[in-house]
Amino acid sequence: MFQEKVETRRREEMIPLTLQVAEALEKSRMRSGLCVIYVPHTTAGVTINENADPDVCKDILMGLGKIAPLNWQYSHGEGNSDAHLKASIVGSSVVIPVEDGKLLLGTWQGIYFCEFDGPRTRHVLYQFIPAAPTQVVEE
Ligand code: ZN
Repeated sequence: MFQEKVETRRREEMIPLTLQVAEALEKSRMRSGLCVIYVPHTTAGVTINENADPDVCKDILMGLGKIAPLNWQYSHGEGNSDAHLKASIVGSSVVIPVEDGKLLLGTWQGIYFCEFDGPRTRHVLYQFIPAAPTQVVEE
């Protein structure tokens, strides 16, 4: 298990994680299996989306703001219900297949830590699960 600290700087932002995950994968020496990325927070999450145009992340945050506006008739007294909703919408984990020691991300895909109630010190966990050895069935 790898744990990394993420220092967020704004109330809402999407922070690229792809390079950190690739580095941790290299250290793990796993060649084939699954990479699980998990965010242990209720007002932050993790997602995979376009890594080429930074406007995509901007638009995702704007769209989530339409779905879960900051001010609404929420009951939760902490004043961050929008952040709880956004965290549930994006989810707290992603799974990426690994082959030949590489993350099988598409060309335009990147991994993003999603902050919805920052700035805060956050954590993200990476777990690498090796594939079972290939079973040879003899007849
Ligand atoms: Zn809260």
